[in-house]
Amino acid sequence: MVEVKKSVCNWCKGECGVLVHVNNGRLVKATNDPDFPEQTWPRSTACLRLKAAREFFYHLDRVNFPLKRAGEKGEGKWRAISWEQALDEIAEGMKKVIRQYGPEALSFTLGTAYKQENPLMTRLFTLLNNPLNFASATNVCFWPRSMVANAIVGMFPHFSVRPSTKCIVSLGAEPLVSRPTTAEQMRQAIKNGAKHIVIDPRRTYSASKADVWLQLRPGTDAAVLMGMVNVIIEEGLYDREFVERWCHGFEELKQRAREYPPEKAAAISDVPAETIQEAARVYAANRPGAMIEGMGIEELTSNAEVLHARWILAALVGNLDVEGGEELTGPHPTMLTMKELEPRVDFKPEVLAKQIGADRFKFLAIHGQRMISSNMGRVWPRLPWQGIIAHGPSMWRAVLTGNPYPVRATITIGNNPLVTLPNTKLVYKALKSLDLFVVIDYWRTPSAELADYILPSACWLERPMLWDFQGYDRWIKAGEAAVPSSVPGLYEHKNEYEIWRELAIRFGYGDYYPWKTLEELFDARLKPIGYTHRNYVDKVRCEWKGGHYKKYEKTGFATPTGKAELYSTIMDKLDYDPLPHYQESAETKVSQPELAKEYPYVLITGGRIRQYYHSDFRQIDSVRKVHPDPLVQINPQTAAKLGIADGDWVWIETKRGRVRQKAELFDGLKPDVVHAEHGWWYPELPGEEPWLHGVWESNINVCLDDDPEVCNSLTGAYPLKTALCRIYRAKSYARP
Ligand code: SF4
Repeated sequence: MVEVKKSVCNWCKGECGVLVHVNNGRLVKATNDPDFPEQTWPRSTACLRLKAAREFFYHLDRVNFPLKRAGEKGEGKWRAISWEQALDEIAEGMKKVIRQYGPEALSFTLGTAYKQENPLMTRLFTLLNNPLNFASATNVCFWPRSMVANAIVGMFPHFSVRPSTKCIVSLGAEPLVSRPTTAEQMRQAIKNGAKHIVIDPRRTYSASKADVWLQLRPGTDAAVLMGMVNVIIEEGLYDREFVERWCHGFEELKQRAREYPPEKAAAISDVPAETIQEAARVYAANRPGAMIEGMGIEELTSNAEVLHARWILAALVGNLDVEGGEELTGPHPTMLTMKELEPRVDFKPEVLAKQIGADRFKFLAIHGQRMISSNMGRVWPRLPWQGIIAHGPSMWRAVLTGNPYPVRATITIGNNPLVTLPNTKLVYKALKSLDLFVVIDYWRTPSAELADYILPSACWLERPMLWDFQGYDRWIKAGEAAVPSSVPGLYEHKNEYEIWRELAIRFGYGDYYPWKTLEELFDARLKPIGYTHRNYVDKVRCEWKGGHYKKYEKTGFATPTGKAELYSTIMDKLDYDPLPHYQESAETKVSQPELAKEYPYVLITGGRIRQYYHSDFRQIDSVRKVHPDPLVQINPQTAAKLGIADGDWVWIETKRGRVRQKAELFDGLKPDVVHAEHGWWYPELPGEEPWLHGVWESNINVCLDDDPEVCNSLTGAYPLKTALCRIYRAKSYARP
């Protein structure tokens, strides 16, 4: 008999409510839940990934049992072993590294969908006295975005466009592809008459329909936003009352903004001064407004400055914590946050001082985090979880050089560093040289092929879900485990909580993991609001926790001055520029004119592909056949000049290396800009070296830079949108 279970999908940032049809414990299909209060895709449109749930779950390539390397690293020889043996040996391997090099020699990396249970992972690493050497793509992802917002306005409002929003600014983001939940809210707001401003070098679908599109030179966002700040101040378009009462540093900002008249911003960004003026006027006149910033911003070396300017704009026009504006929701006031489930073990200062990159990228490491959260704690009854992250590129260098100390073991959770991090050659050498490399994943990814152990991970279909995005999401969403995570003889998956708990027990820290299952842990979180997880799924399932506005009138903003800090006192104290400024990226036609003669095009990457989620889903046939090959978008004029036709394979080459992708002629890019897809590997190619599932073939990260010298000094962000490249037709190509 077919039963229908209620779950929440996290195969991308939609976090959709889903109905899972199950027959005798076997998955039949998964469909959108039409009654889920916050649904993402329009009801009539099915998500390809969701449609492929059964194909994914029972895929022949899925890792179903713990695997232990049976040959040399990268030789592609594996032996299935029991969970007991795998966890015993991994714990033993970690202990050996700790004995030989100290606890700081352990590190870990994470992928997007796995972050919810982070605090339970850091619990173990804290107990082990590791300085949280946690490094993923975090320097160019959610962390800079949330931490800059937390520093400037005291809380990160995780995308607050609503149907009542009057002006939407898409800043390096195309939610129609990357963020279905927000896209649905956007569609409704636009239907209700909201203006839409898009700041993007690509003519995305949103840009083609926008009221104002600013097609800027890649990497110049800070100049454009400061140009808008200039217009809003000089033309008196700001909310005087709000600025006087609730903003800190207006006079200093005014001085700084004078350095960015629209004409200067235009000269830097190639956006006409009139368009910058128009954008500023439309934004100021249509309140409340909300911005959606995406990885187009975060993957810039100047991401902190752009994010700071974005919050300044929101504050100047009084968009903070108003309905339809930038709603500062914060965590649920009574439900336990994941942060509160962190152990009551104090980080020892001498331990945290060792965190890789903490001395250099102070804002995102312990120094900044402590300053930010002490202010937030003054205002918010509960705090979102804020990981204290290391600097990824510096960590890989520590693995290779032993400087500042040896890092010898890495645990990677749902992350594929060879494909998702820049400078693939360096990451490859680092992974290969580790004493212990453990991967927790669904698949034998190119990175997993270099591991010592691969542990099979349970996906959302087979584990309970309780989702509030570390406390930042405006919704709480819950789902049940629809199918068993283990069927003897067929598969044995575990969720990450179970893995951390089992490892902790092997270190003698079982008492710190008192909940035997993930569901018990969720029961503990929900107890203060009177539910068990089971009850919550049955009776609530999706809960809106917003609806309280202008809270600052009672509490002040959760910043050192109690105001929205146009002038950041935290950045000032950490010896950074307290106001946003524009800085040319390290590798552009302006900063490196000689290099530009050899590599005349600007390479941007990271635009989302509707069918995939970063490097996921390439092995799912029903998905892959819709988008079989990696595509590089080239302006038709440029293609004609280079003798490239639509559909030709072309080489994209920077001074760091080259990869090939298929040309897609697209006049929505300027002639000197090309956009290459990210996340490409070929699961169908052999896993052993030299193939590594084709990791060297189309993976754009081979061409990109991660040198700490060119990273953002606050956030450690590396430049993925401004590399100089050349492109040419691939006349022939032989796979190794
Ligand atoms: S893959 Fe994303 S959009 Fe599709 S159902 Fe899952 S969460 Fe929603």
